[in-house]
Amino acid sequence: MTARVLILAGTAEARALADLLCGDGIPTISSLAGRVSRPRVPAGELRVGGFGGPEALAAWLALHSIAAVVDATHPFAAQISRSARQATSHGGVPLLRLERPGWTSGRGDRWTWVSDLTEAAAAVRARGPARVFLTTGRQGLAAFAGDAANWYLIRCVDPPHAAALPRRRLVVLDRGPYTFPGECAMLADHAIDVLVTKDSGGRLTEAKLLAARARSLPVVIVRRPPHAEVPTVATPAEASVWARRHVAAGSG
Ligand code: NAP
Repeated sequence: MTARVLILAGTAEARALADLLCGDGIPTISSLAGRVSRPRVPAGELRVGGFGGPEALAAWLALHSIAAVVDATHPFAAQISRSARQATSHGGVPLLRLERPGWTSGRGDRWTWVSDLTEAAAAVRARGPARVFLTTGRQGLAAFAGDAANWYLIRCVDPPHAAALPRRRLVVLDRGPYTFPGECAMLADHAIDVLVTKDSGGRLTEAKLLAARARSLPVVIVRRPPHAEVPTVATPAEASVWARRHVAAGSG
């Protein structure tokens, strides 16, 4: 069977890499967890759903003649990255991490860094009654569920589970990319006092941070979870050069 590249996907960078590799005729399979109801479909072959843990992933890699794996999952998707590391080291398959750089604060920013969503919720509560813009995705919203003092504008791609939400809230379904004027309007229209975000990084969702800066709003920002030491690049172009090299070696 022809050697192929597996992209662990779910990000814009993963789709850009699939475009590059497929454009060059490199056999590529993208893998999605299946969390989003209408995902943006990458170029090339697609599989959807968990593998069933690291051992099952290792078996899947062998069965599908995978010559190289690029872990291009979201910076906050820690479990699949751990799984990829274990499965590839077990099967001797080269692994590369494609991860966009995190955001860094600039002049005028009022950022408070926290370790997780529980700390983020505590930081919000400590500020006193506020109107909060929550852009951390639909997972982990339960950390804010017990907070009746603050009002929340919750933005996510798919509807969150109503049982795990703060009582005083408005849910907006959207997936970006977002613009600076659009985010300024969002903050103004809802009289937002504080923004809560993960350090996802990237240009597609950074406009909210620029809008918060423009309005001098405080931001509570969740640090990325630690990732194991794996060779890492920041751009799809670099990852495509690496993957091409390994497919050539695997097919030779
Ligand atoms: P996670 O906690 O790291 O993964 C949980 C389980 O979901 C994994 O053990 C694996 O199941 C399965 N999984 C995750 N990503 C997968 C993929 N690309 N292909 C196949 N199975 C996958 O991940 P998460 O935080 O729930 O994120 C799920 C997906 O959404 C990721 O692919 C990520 O790129 C994307 N995403 C996440 C965030 C975020 O903030 N976490 C934001 C935007 C996009 P098995 O153990 O059964 O193999």
